[in-house]
Amino acid sequence: MTVKAYGAYAGNLPLESMDITRRVPGEHDVQIEIAYCGVCHSDIHTVRAEWAGTLYPCVPGHEIVGRVSAVGACVSGFKMGDLVGVGCIVDSCKHCEECDAGLENYCDHMVGTYNGPTKDAPGHTLGGYSQRIVVHERYVLRIRHPEAQLAAVAPLLCAGITTYSPLRHWKVGPGHTVGVVGIGGLGHMGIKLAHAMGAHVVAITTSESKREAALKLGANETVVSRNANEMASYAKRFDFILNTVAAPHDLDALFNLLKRDGTMALVGAPATPHPSPQVFNLITKRRSLAGSMIGGIPETQEMLDFCAQHGIVADIEMIRANEINTAYERMLKSDVRYRFVIDCGSLQAG
Ligand code: NAP
Ligand code: ZN
Repeated sequence: MTVKAYGAYAGNLPLESMDITRRVPGEHDVQIEIAYCGVCHSDIHTVRAEWAGTLYPCVPGHEIVGRVSAVGACVSGFKMGDLVGVGCIVDSCKHCEECDAGLENYCDHMVGTYNGPTKDAPGHTLGGYSQRIVVHERYVLRIRHPEAQLAAVAPLLCAGITTYSPLRHWKVGPGHTVGVVGIGGLGHMGIKLAHAMGAHVVAITTSESKREAALKLGANETVVSRNANEMASYAKRFDFILNTVAAPHDLDALFNLLKRDGTMALVGAPATPHPSPQVFNLITKRRSLAGSMIGGIPETQEMLDFCAQHGIVADIEMIRANEINTAYERMLKSDVRYRFVIDCGSLQAG
């Protein structure tokens, strides 16, 4: 079927309305009428070809929520009308060690919701800035939040799981002091989740204007990283730092904040590398530098259920699809509290 979408034909062109096709649902497929789609900084990196390998036309969007509008003959877990979500993964090999462990995000053949290989036209996947999507049921998530919160649930599908997974992996909880660096879409979810897990949370931001706001999100303290004296007063205080920053920056200033045996996990994925960290900043306190990418499907469902139980959703600013180019410019200025979400009903107008 043909549906309306918003995407770009080249990295140096703005996004515009376009028609795309979605496959007829196969036996194991779920067709979803998309209500809302969150806007992730990865969408910008991809559509503007800041990372290698963008295929055009590019329709971004991997924070998808909506209702099931059709199911294939063999689908048992979902029925018409169910509230569901789709995150960053729409396929994987389904039989490797990672897939067997429910870590499809680390499968060598993981297919991203956009810009991934597919037999469907045009030969690469097209994302959630669109009216409908068709996805194998294995990669469809159940939403248990009240329907009124649906738009604010959308960002959980990427920003939520990308911060939840490392917080769980490094066993963040009561008694831990956790720094969250970069208070954007990912960072604001990191604060909410680490707080709900019982940690003492410190927001580390470049934006003086976010100091008060971070406390409202659940941070216990805020540090403005441009202030060297303030940073120095937090030396050796942190057990774990979750770094969500989308641009290259000085990692050494952050290593100094870790205790002995502390870990900093990078989830931010800048287009150009960070300046190389000083080895002495790691070896003198047995500190670790790590990375983490989204999360597997079972953990994404666990995160959604955790958020439903704890009443956690994203703080969002709703936009129409034709406002996306302005939204990108504002994100690049760190001017969003804290996630743009596209009302996909607005795509109807073209
Ligand atoms: P975002 O909403 O734009 O937030 C990024 C935040 O980083 C900004 O709000 C700002 O926070 C801070 N920042 C920006 N430029 C900075 C600079 N030059 N120096 C220091 N801080 C700066 O982006 P997002 O959607 O949260 O995504 C963040 C990054 O994570 C992107 O690179 C994205 O591609 C990546 N990502 C990775 C995964 C994964 O699986 N690992 C998943 C999703 C996204 P302050 O104003 O508080 O300083
Ligand atoms: Zn994302």
